[in-house]
Amino acid sequence: MRAVQTLTLGSLATNCYLVYLDDTHVIAVDIGGDARKVLSFLEQRSLTLTKILLTHGHYDHIGAVRAVQQATGAEVYIHELDAPMLSDTHLNLADWIEPWTDFVPITEYHTVKDGDVIRDGDAVFTVLHTPGHTVGSVCYQCEDILLTGDTLFHMSRGRTDFPGGSDRQMLESFRRLKDLEGDYRVYPGHNETSTLEYERKNNPVMRGLL
Ligand SMILES: [Zn+2]
Ligand SMILES: [Zn+2]
Repeated sequence: MRAVQTLTLGSLATNCYLVYLDDTHVIAVDIGGDARKVLSFLEQRSLTLTKILLTHGHYDHIGAVRAVQQATGAEVYIHELDAPMLSDTHLNLADWIEPWTDFVPITEYHTVKDGDVIRDGDAVFTVLHTPGHTVGSVCYQCEDILLTGDTLFHMSRGRTDFPGGSDRQMLESFRRLKDLEGDYRVYPGHNETSTLEYERKNNPVMRGLL
């Protein structure tokens, strides 16, 4: 089973996940803050960060991406519909979350869309476009790992009242996740990890989907 390390970062306690490609290479999913904490974790374990996959463009998920990208040379990936958030502190909510921030736009990145695959080593990450929290929110699936960003939380779901949010799309995205075949380890953008089967049975939003 592929190892996943959780680092909880920034003022909103946003989860950053390091998915191990092998003993010495990792991919990061969202880096919301505390670049130094991430870099020292990598350094202490002699890990090379190859890629940074973003579940969406909110500041609490991208706040330290530029600093880590500059220090490591890792490639950044985001859904094409959330890409404008990488350079706009109104769209990415930095103005609201940390008005004092000196956010520097992220200008070097790759865009992805539904069904794209990102390969690295022997790992394959498939992009599932799951809008609702933002227009370009995605989940990344790799083997039995499902990284759900601010779409699916343990026993809950992401907010839909920010710009680009949609209740209708969120429910459609939940239906799509519910209908995935088999079980997955679920790694959400906030709070604790879960499994898809647990959420199918217990998450009030998923249970509400007939
Ligand atoms: Zn968010
Ligand atoms: Zn968040």
